[in-house]
Amino acid sequence: MTGNLRRSLAACLLGNLLAMSILSSAAPTRAADDTSTAAEAFIAGHLEKIRPLEIEVARSWWLANTTGKDEAFARKQELETQLDVALSDKARFAELKKLHDKPPADKLIARQIELLYLQYLGKQVPRELLEKMIAKSNAVEQAFNVYRPKVDGRDVTDSEIRKILAQSTDSDRRRLMWEASKEVGAVVEADLKALVALRNEAAKQLGFKNYHAMQLNLNEQSQDQVLALFDELDTLTREPFLAAKREIDGRIGKMIGVSIDELQPWHYHDPFFQESPAVFDADLDKVFEKVDILKLCREFYAGIGLPIDDVLARSDLYEKPGKSPHAFCTDIDREGDVRVLANIVSNEKWMATMLHELGHSVYSSKYIPRTLPYVVRSHSHILTTEGVAMMFERFSKNADWLAAMQVTVDDPSAFNEAGALMRRNQLLIFSRWCQVMLRFEKSLYENPDQDLNALWWNLVEKYQGVRKPKDRNLPDYAAKIHIVSAPAYYHNYMLGQLFASQVHAALCRDVLDGAPPTDAIYVGNKRAGQFMLDKVFAPGATLSWNELTKHATGEELNAKAFAAEFRAK
Ligand SMILES: [Zn+2]
Repeated sequence: MTGNLRRSLAACLLGNLLAMSILSSAAPTRAADDTSTAAEAFIAGHLEKIRPLEIEVARSWWLANTTGKDEAFARKQELETQLDVALSDKARFAELKKLHDKPPADKLIARQIELLYLQYLGKQVPRELLEKMIAKSNAVEQAFNVYRPKVDGRDVTDSEIRKILAQSTDSDRRRLMWEASKEVGAVVEADLKALVALRNEAAKQLGFKNYHAMQLNLNEQSQDQVLALFDELDTLTREPFLAAKREIDGRIGKMIGVSIDELQPWHYHDPFFQESPAVFDADLDKVFEKVDILKLCREFYAGIGLPIDDVLARSDLYEKPGKSPHAFCTDIDREGDVRVLANIVSNEKWMATMLHELGHSVYSSKYIPRTLPYVVRSHSHILTTEGVAMMFERFSKNADWLAAMQVTVDDPSAFNEAGALMRRNQLLIFSRWCQVMLRFEKSLYENPDQDLNALWWNLVEKYQGVRKPKDRNLPDYAAKIHIVSAPAYYHNYMLGQLFASQVHAALCRDVLDGAPPTDAIYVGNKRAGQFMLDKVFAPGATLSWNELTKHATGEELNAKAFAAEFRAK
């Protein structure tokens, strides 16, 4: 424990010096001026009022998700509302806007003002409009939860639909189930369009051209910038995707007895073709039946110099009644109280999930220098923390990593081959799906009155290579709940993958003597952990996501490293 403490203190000091040097190189003068003093006073006020609320929200969130109790959810909602109200304070925002329009000379203070400005700006929507938006989005989400389509005169559930799509060789049955999965679209279509109108109205009141542009702006992104990255990604992955899809289509066609030219959307294994169909008989789970996933994680992270024993001690890791069935990592107070919620089962999915969540945990106040001010003592962006988590997650499909962690794999080359194929299919299919989501949402908010059914299917045909069923003209886009519940957000998962590949490639180049990224593992290599500490964690949020990418890898975020992993060998 003392070893850990000493290590994190050392990391803190080093990290802080590094962050300071980044900031001071951009700003040679750090003398206090009037604006700096006013800004410091604003930040102090923020810490006094908002910080305790943020911590309480995080605690109540944890309690609600670990217990599932109604009173815990009620408390969480009450605290979230309190926080929203505090951030929407008009007088405080006016003060902040003045500081933001004429930023202080001190770069570290200016950066905090920038981040606070974006945080408060998003909460300035008039109360009445905000309430309408919440009511509408709840109505749609509820419709999603309760709607049960009927097949052969009886209700079918989502999991029944998925089971048929995953297993059935009966095309007519598949078609019925797929169509059933889309019925909810027509049910929520009108409400969703009303919600889009309300969101656009809110964005216009805050000075943005539409809601999509606003959401990106609040997250330090621009539509042009994200679109350029997605165009590059499209160019670099189109061929590898089409090749992988030809292989998948061939297998699906054979299993169901349909020729490739006749394949329809209901022949894939999930309603949107966002996941890789299980058509290769690879079973990665067997290896994990006897593996102690927690022990492996503990030893792996300690081995690279980023021990996480205290995180595990505070975490809630196994199934229990009432608990959330998902997994997440939360930094409660930015003072090192970092916890993971999980439901570990001995299989490959949970090995990957635990490496992922613990990846989030090391990129938190656990290893971000505690000497950085509270406002910037966090990951740079949602895409950078997802990226770090995804970077560590990859090892669950690598037999060399398992062997180095003392796990016996009977046939390592077969395991690696299956793992690489699975990873390739998952990532390429997901990247094409993200193309559809980003472009659809952007266009939806730009022009909500256009023929949205046609827009959706044109994008699906172009990017996913899935054919629109003949004469179909229904609001199939509205059957995707994320358009309602997590708007203008999906693209960050994909950018996170690009970040993961780019940082991993830089680490291979700078620390692992140029090892090929597809083979590299970090087991026992403290320099790998040190690279993450220095290059990715130390700046916290003092750097924006693209500045951080450049700082860590030497280049702004791009799709090259990601695409390179899928180039034909
Ligand atoms: Zn994550």
